Amino acid sequence: MPSPGKQLVFSFLAGHILYPIGDLVAGTRLIKYYNFLQESQWWQEEKLRRWQDDKLALLIRHAYANVPYYKHLFDRCGIDPESIKESSDLKRIPVLTKDIIRNNFNDLVSLDVSKRKPRLACTSGSTGAPLKYYTDMHAYSVGWASTFRAWGWGDYNLGDKRVTFGGGALTSKSSNPLKQLMRDKLERNLKISAVFMNDESLGNHVKQINRHKPSFIRGYASSLYELALFIKKKGIKIARPKAVLSTAEMLLPGQREMIEEQLQGEVFDNWGCNDGGGNACECREHSGLHVAVERSVVEISENSGPANSGEVLLTDLHNYSMPFIRYANEDMGRYVPQKCLCGRNLPRLDNFQGRSIDFLVTAEGQKVHGAFFSRLFLNLKSFTHFQVSQVLIDQWIVKLIPSAFAVNSLLIKEIELVRTIIYQRTRETKLEIEIVDSIPAGKSGKWKFIANEYEGLS
Ligand SMILES: [Zn+2]
Repeated sequence: MPSPGKQLVFSFLAGHILYPIGDLVAGTRLIKYYNFLQESQWWQEEKLRRWQDDKLALLIRHAYANVPYYKHLFDRCGIDPESIKESSDLKRIPVLTKDIIRNNFNDLVSLDVSKRKPRLACTSGSTGAPLKYYTDMHAYSVGWASTFRAWGWGDYNLGDKRVTFGGGALTSKSSNPLKQLMRDKLERNLKISAVFMNDESLGNHVKQINRHKPSFIRGYASSLYELALFIKKKGIKIARPKAVLSTAEMLLPGQREMIEEQLQGEVFDNWGCNDGGGNACECREHSGLHVAVERSVVEISENSGPANSGEVLLTDLHNYSMPFIRYANEDMGRYVPQKCLCGRNLPRLDNFQGRSIDFLVTAEGQKVHGAFFSRLFLNLKSFTHFQVSQVLIDQWIVKLIPSAFAVNSLLIKEIELVRTIIYQRTRETKLEIEIVDSIPAGKSGKWKFIANEYEGLS
């Protein structure tokens, strides 16, 4: 970790000079939103709700007046845009799926897009087919401002050195190499690809990290875990960060424990969806992820998943170039009902529970969403990875990697628990449980915990 005095000076420079200049040059408003979000996170619930409702009403009016898709949709469904006054009114608007976006791309672009300096963005495609969409400078600014605020819950200050360790979704470069270089220098962000990892590449990554001495290490949960495992195996030391930011994948308790032990930094789990304008992050209470309600409305659709979980539906309040209203990004989640002890009134989502389109089918013909398995394993301490695959119409294989910290008696108990809980769901499906050393990640470097290998399933 760099010296605290030097770090404070750089953070002051970043917040008061470097980022404001960056905003001027790029036409962004990152600092303005960042300062606003620092205050709004402490607002009372009612004030936050009213602020969000006002933004929502403006977005709906804009969409009806300027976006052909919504003009036709609202007219066809008999929806008066003036009647959408708060987030609960959104239920009357049909959900926007990725297929609808692909089939109506031009009609979803605002007629006044040219004055908004739009940028064509694309999802990474790491968990499905890539999706193109337009975003604009406001959405971009709020997106980064809310991400920086969330990292601040782990003591991040603007300009703090960081390492980004993951697949293409985290380490991709801009189409303008000069701009990218300037941004990486300004942010002191060292990007390391974790798509292919072996002892040699991990050894090089550790050397790079130790030279850079980051205050924060950010990466996919499974990539951070592999890094931690390598450090433990080799008995080497890594420059101690202030915190570790895990993102883009479900973080299991066994992974968190190993990462915290070996990387010597408190782990903060994050969730982000730029296409839908969503982000959420843990605070120091580590009991759910606080949602940036100033950035988007995040709904959980009713009754679509196990244990009060449902499909995530996002309405980005700031992207006027191509508004997405009730966008189903194919994640599943659920809200935590209680208030957080940290005092923030931003609602919390439970740990993310996989993708709504990942499912297996029991021998009895019942569909079981990935959320069922993620809920199960998020409550177990003995495993760092799992994968459930359907290999036949009536056969599933559960692969488990035990944690290096697993206590044998608990491990045996939890394996039996996995068998019993799955058996309660499907009595006719044959279940094999295998203890393995590794589960290969997908091409993007992301770990896939549901695998449909049976062709008759889709
Ligand atoms: Zn909190």
